[in-house]
Amino acid sequence: MSAIDDLPPLREVIRQHGLRAKKSLGQNFLLDLNLTARIARAAGPVDGVDVVEVGPGPGGLTRALLAAGARRVIAVERDDRAIAALEQIAGRYPGRLEIVAGDALDFDAAPLVGDAPARVVANLPYNIATALLVRWLTLEPWPPWYDRLVLMFQREVAERIVATSGSKSYGRLSVLVGWRCEARIRFDVAGKAFVPPPKVTSSLVELVPRKKPLVCERRALERVTEAAFGQRRKMLRQSLKSLGTDPLPLLEAARIEPTARAEDVPVEGFVALARAFAAR
Ligand code: SAM
Repeated sequence: MSAIDDLPPLREVIRQHGLRAKKSLGQNFLLDLNLTARIARAAGPVDGVDVVEVGPGPGGLTRALLAAGARRVIAVERDDRAIAALEQIAGRYPGRLEIVAGDALDFDAAPLVGDAPARVVANLPYNIATALLVRWLTLEPWPPWYDRLVLMFQREVAERIVATSGSKSYGRLSVLVGWRCEARIRFDVAGKAFVPPPKVTSSLVELVPRKKPLVCERRALERVTEAAFGQRRKMLRQSLKSLGTDPLPLLEAARIEPTARAEDVPVEGFVALARAFAAR
């Protein structure tokens, strides 16, 4: 019996259901229920909250979220072998675990979440982690259906997510994140906590949608950050020429020095630049 519920230990669940980890599905399982409980606490309080979980696998985090009082967990899993293990958890928490068998990249949670606050909590498969994050960041309308994203990434990706101007990790992803959310790293998790252990450390990242949105068109923001960070060592008066328009009036409208480099410009500066570009 584990500390958080009376379901079998995760190693036994994995053995029972033949859940040998597959690299192609980005499977690195967390088998320590104390650690999954810590992640659930970092996402909390989840009392009365609908939680969307991508990739529950054998269900360590799912169990922690349910034990922590989540009103409902909507869990999207692509590996059919995991579904039977998840059904066992659903039986332990009647009416509170909704299992969606399928690809998270084709899944829209919005119609499933009700009037309760909704949150995304996941130990993401690394191969689609950034694609999923970009999708959640670019939802319309904004603010989105979730009140928080609490997600595990490889540390190098986590550093790019939370980076601010002036940092080596600051780039296109950091600007997209900063445009819509406030992000911070909650804690690191060593590779050895996972089965099988990845070579790198992971970090749990929290993203909270901005209360006051920074308004600009997504496509214009992507165009200017692509141009600026595509040649990040160059001054903006040079790198922005790839936009096919004279950069100087855009930079002037956005109050950015033409000699600045992409790395020097805070998110608000890129938003102003995107607005100037869209209005040209
Ligand atoms: N949450 C579990 C844990 O913490 O032990 C498993 C995390 S593991 C890093 C990623 C999980 O995502 C795996 O269970 C994998 O099968 C699942 N997965 C991979 N690609 C997926 C996709 N496209 N859609 C839904 N789930 C996916």
